[in-house]
Amino acid sequence: MNYNTEAINQMAQQLAEMFKSEVTAQQESDGSTPTIAHIEADMREALRQIGNQALGLFLSSMQAKPEKEIACSCGGRLRYQRMREALVISVFGRTVYARAYYAGCSCKEGKAPIDEQFGLKPGAVTAGLAILLALAGIEFSYDKSPKWLQAYLLFDISENTVRSETEQMGALQEKREDVLIQQSQDEQYLQGRQRNPGRIAPRLYGSIDAAKVRIEPRPKQDEEKEAHEDWRDMKMLCWFEVETVPPSQRSKRQRKKAAREQIALRARKVREIIMGYRLHSQCGSVS
Ligand SMILES: [Zn+2]
Repeated sequence: MNYNTEAINQMAQQLAEMFKSEVTAQQESDGSTPTIAHIEADMREALRQIGNQALGLFLSSMQAKPEKEIACSCGGRLRYQRMREALVISVFGRTVYARAYYAGCSCKEGKAPIDEQFGLKPGAVTAGLAILLALAGIEFSYDKSPKWLQAYLLFDISENTVRSETEQMGALQEKREDVLIQQSQDEQYLQGRQRNPGRIAPRLYGSIDAAKVRIEPRPKQDEEKEAHEDWRDMKMLCWFEVETVPPSQRSKRQRKKAAREQIALRARKVREIIMGYRLHSQCGSVS
């Protein structure tokens, strides 16, 4: 997307003036000046609120003049009811927008085309936020994630939301891995890839490591006993290319290496792959 620099400059100017008058008023009333940390925090919060409102206004503005009737996915007809408000949880917090709502089909399903167009589900997390929640859920434990997310996003997210978004992302990843596993067994696919390999790195380096990961207690499928904790093997695989480090950018260790007439190299185009227990157990021969 191309941003209109001039419009952004104008908005920034307005925000700067708003802060200047606030700070000047405070200085005049009690002689104190807020710290830069305070100003940064307040400005982030203001920008979050602006983003929240802008996203809601944008979504509402995308609603064209509603049709009287539209097709229902069941094959029936849906009639326009009214403009209805909806709330989604976006990267800016609880975002409200209005869109045309259709109902009255014999299948009893309702529909808002704007929701379908942008993949929105009222009451649910947007795709943009889902990615961030899953990142937190992968990086931290579910109970610690809300604290970190609050600090970065400036609004509260429940532990359950982090859990469910991370699990949904995990399910998507499993599907992707299923495709990869199928392709790795599919001779036609492999031959096709050999014929059209795309860009090939002159030399590709690989590095693999493993760690034990504690899985939270849950009952095993074939046992009806109590839940118990489990330890699983997680493999980290990393593919990368290398390049020589220019003399001016060499670390102390690399300079010593160069002095011994060895080439100082560094990794580039690093691609990390985490292989969980599931993929590992299915591709035993690969790992
Ligand atoms: Zn229908």
